[in-house]
Amino acid sequence: VVGGGRNGAAIANIAQSAGARVALVDKNDWASGTSSKSTKLLHGGIRYLENFEFGLVAESLKERYIQWKNVPHLVKPMQFLIPVYKGQGRPLWMMKLGVWLYDVLSGRYSFGGHQNLSREDMIKLAPGIKQEGLIGGVSYFDAQMDDARLCLENVLMAKSKGADVSNYVEVMEFLKENGRAIGARVKDMTSGKTFDIRAKKIFVAAGPWSDVVRRKDNIKVKPRLRPTKGVHIVYRLNLGDNAFLLQGSDRRVFFAIPFHGNTLIGTTDTDYQGKADEVTVEDKDITYLLEQAKMNFPDVDFSRKDIISTFAGLRPLVYEAGSPSKISRQHAIERNFSGIYYVMGGKYTTYRAMALECVKKIMPEHVHKIKDSALYPLFGSGLSKVDVKAITMHYGVDTDTVAYLMSVYGSRFNDVLSLVIKDSSLKGRICTCSLAIRAQAAYAIQTEMAVAVDDIYERRLGLSYNECQTKECRRTISDMLKY
Ligand SMILES: Cc1cc2nc3c(=O)[nH]c(=O)nc-3n(C[C@H](O)[C@H](O)[C@H](O)COP(=O)(O)OP(=O)(O)OC[C@H]3O[C@@H](n4cnc5c(N)ncnc54)[C@H](O)[C@@H]3O)c2cc1C
Repeated sequence: VVGGGRNGAAIANIAQSAGARVALVDKNDWASGTSSKSTKLLHGGIRYLENFEFGLVAESLKERYIQWKNVPHLVKPMQFLIPVYKGQGRPLWMMKLGVWLYDVLSGRYSFGGHQNLSREDMIKLAPGIKQEGLIGGVSYFDAQMDDARLCLENVLMAKSKGADVSNYVEVMEFLKENGRAIGARVKDMTSGKTFDIRAKKIFVAAGPWSDVVRRKDNIKVKPRLRPTKGVHIVYRLNLGDNAFLLQGSDRRVFFAIPFHGNTLIGTTDTDYQGKADEVTVEDKDITYLLEQAKMNFPDVDFSRKDIISTFAGLRPLVYEAGSPSKISRQHAIERNFSGIYYVMGGKYTTYRAMALECVKKIMPEHVHKIKDSALYPLFGSGLSKVDVKAITMHYGVDTDTVAYLMSVYGSRFNDVLSLVIKDSSLKGRICTCSLAIRAQAAYAIQTEMAVAVDDIYERRLGLSYNECQTKECRRTISDMLKY
């Protein structure tokens, strides 16, 4: 399996569970591509209803539920509010119909009921919202998740079942016999050494790099993707417990979501023609997001000084003509001449279903081993009731730390804490900007395959989303990596 974003990670996990012997490689860190740059929602995608993509929405709502049931420490239901204005954007009846349909499509996988809100209700729930022209709104439920960690848990689960998984290993070319792919020549990016991996079946889940990898397979192939760039900003602002789906001046919708004590604002959706490795946040992306946010929350400053962090990612969308935000989020699984399968497009939310579809293609006779589609336990799933007081006493850490570790690692929080028994200095905080302790960095290095500072700072611990005056966190992690 080429590519350790959420697609490749889940294909590896499911194929290994079905009895295959899997090797999974990523040229960078797990989830370092699009899978850590999303809006971090497991959602049906209420806006896809207006494109009549009912099948995609219904499947996503089911997948949202499956992930919540199986990995509740990483997937949190959240209420979303949509304010509606007279004569601007989508009308109220459409919003009411939309949230009603959303609940109908979720059926037995529902998270809870939608509500129609009067102008007064909306102001009570969101005092900072623009009030001029406000006529009411609606609310509905979706889920927030930790995208990088959810991807990592798939990799760790595959590994625990016996898969060979290696980050920082790039596929340079495919090995072929009579035109059929029989493996890949790969390069270990840390040592510079190349070696061959033989495989009966190959899946490429390279996200926005899919066309680059397809050209390694056949130089003459035409591009299949139409990547679009999406930028987010983490803004110093607490909007309360509810998230917002807002309408922009250009009829596009965007989100403002409670995130690490602040607000995640995004996203943009613009065509991208550059190299996938070079995607960056541009000044015009920030201007656009701040302007749209200001339109909806007029009393907030929305100046650049209150931006905590920004990130940009590429949607690996399968080519379609038309406006970027109208391109379908459906996925495609294609097999080429040399027998390699390519999986492209799709939403994060439906990754499990997509991966299952991939594995069914190559080993249909074994897929029955994956029993019930509602059961998709990942590494860390299944946290049962624990005696927090006993744990704090056993390890000599405070209750906040235990609660925080449980929210990150689920049932594996004990594995992290057990490190402090051998080395009590690991109880210390990484920095003042979060509750993270040094044992987590040690655990990331020993068990979670972290190699570089950003592997830990951004993806294992999400510290890049916190406001930090000192950047002590980066220094601590860097020092720990040197040992
Ligand atoms: C701004 C934005 C917001 C989004 N928000 C949401 C959301 O809220 N909810 C949702 O459901 N979906 C969302 N999505 C969509 C979702 O995030 C993506 O569809 C998904 O993460 C893509 O995963 P992937 O595994 O296909 O690609 P990636 O995560 O990009 O993984 C591809 C991997 O392949 C590796 N690779 C490339 N070339 C090679 C090679 N030669 N050898 C080895 N490895 C290689 C890369 O290093 C990379 O890690 C969003 C997307 C964007 C851009």
